[in-house]
Amino acid sequence: MAVNKETYQQIKAELDAKNVTLVAVSKTKPVEDILELYHLGQRDFGENYVQELVDKAAQLPKDIRWHFIGHLQTNKVKLIAPFVQLIHGVDSLKLLKEINKEGEKNNRVIDCLLQVHIAKEETKFGFDKEELNLTISHFGDLKLTNTRICGLMGMASFTEDMTIVRQEFRKLKEIFNNHAELKLQNSKPETLSMGMSSDYTIAIEEGSTMIRIGSLLFGERTKNQ
Ligand SMILES: *Cc1c(COP(=O)(O)O)cnc(C)c1O
Repeated sequence: MAVNKETYQQIKAELDAKNVTLVAVSKTKPVEDILELYHLGQRDFGENYVQELVDKAAQLPKDIRWHFIGHLQTNKVKLIAPFVQLIHGVDSLKLLKEINKEGEKNNRVIDCLLQVHIAKEETKFGFDKEELNLTISHFGDLKLTNTRICGLMGMASFTEDMTIVRQEFRKLKEIFNNHAELKLQNSKPETLSMGMSSDYTIAIEEGSTMIRIGSLLFGERTKNQ
């Protein structure tokens, strides 16, 4: 499977002009494909599975910035803690504490995004609005000095109806704006990770600062993942 280089360059130019960061989602794709985009200048790559990320990182250039965008289990944090650039899907305080613990062991501060549940589907992970407020209001007391909350991440409903998608992104942006005003300790609320291949244009219109694109760049994935 070849990488869609022209699409990459188009999207990259579009995003650069708008100051939006592109995370190239390479899950299930071989290291050769990642290297193709790397040679075009891409440095931010996203993966969903811990073992796959660890294996790929070992084979690829060290200046790649690896984003973990999947659902992270606490017992696997230690495997990515030494090198991960940003963990997008933090959806519990328990996970945040574990990341902090591993950050401390590795003598680094690990950047995180809190995942907010904005979609209709029950299956998607993330805090609801109340849980998020609670977590944020407690965050200062916890002294988690080896993590930094850099913003929020969310996924819209899986639907053809772009009005729903837009509403959900708008809601997330509103929550993000409220969060930004809180000025937390260890917090740098500047990243809003929303938008994928099918909805990134809408996400940018609604205020996204970071999009995660897989299939448009690397082609469709064979498995449903
Ligand atoms: C797979 C995945 C993406 C990329 O999806 P595409 O539709 O292939 O662009 C983005 N974000 C998350 C969390 C994903 O799991």
